[in-house]
Amino acid sequence: VLVGGYAGTWLPLPWAAELPLTRRDLHAAGAGLGAGVLAVLPMGRCGLAETAHLATWLAGENAGQCGPCVNGLPAIAAALRALANRTHDRDTVDRLRRWTSMVTGRGLCHHPDGVAGLVRSALRVFQPELTEHLAGWCSGVQPQPLLPCAPAHGRLDAP
Ligand code: SF4
Repeated sequence: VLVGGYAGTWLPLPWAAELPLTRRDLHAAGAGLGAGVLAVLPMGRCGLAETAHLATWLAGENAGQCGPCVNGLPAIAAALRALANRTHDRDTVDRLRRWTSMVTGRGLCHHPDGVAGLVRSALRVFQPELTEHLAGWCSGVQPQPLLPCAPAHGRLDAP
């Protein structure tokens, strides 16, 4: 379940279903209410593909004024798309972990922090899918992305 909106945090089910929806409990779980949005990913959907879709959209939703948004987020989104599409290389996951750490706290606002947190939580929560993708296959479904996004600004390719 995605808690806090698109720049939020993935939490695993069924554990997250038992979590009280309070700021204190979410904070203890490493999440927050953020935009106040909850989204549940149906069974069988590929969480890595869905997160790549969100990261791509979020990477385009900035004013291009700060380094983390100009350079960092597009690179993070591209690396995650490569992982989702299984066109990654052996260093992709390490780069994602390093880059999400590098952009955090480096923007004028917290937009990069939100995207980095989303991607890091996906790498944690979708560990079984990550293992599959690293082995070159995916047992999930990757049709059109489930979570809706406004039309992109056209600066980035669709996932
Ligand atoms: S960090 Fe914030 S202010 Fe800077 S370009 Fe990104 S969205 Fe804009």
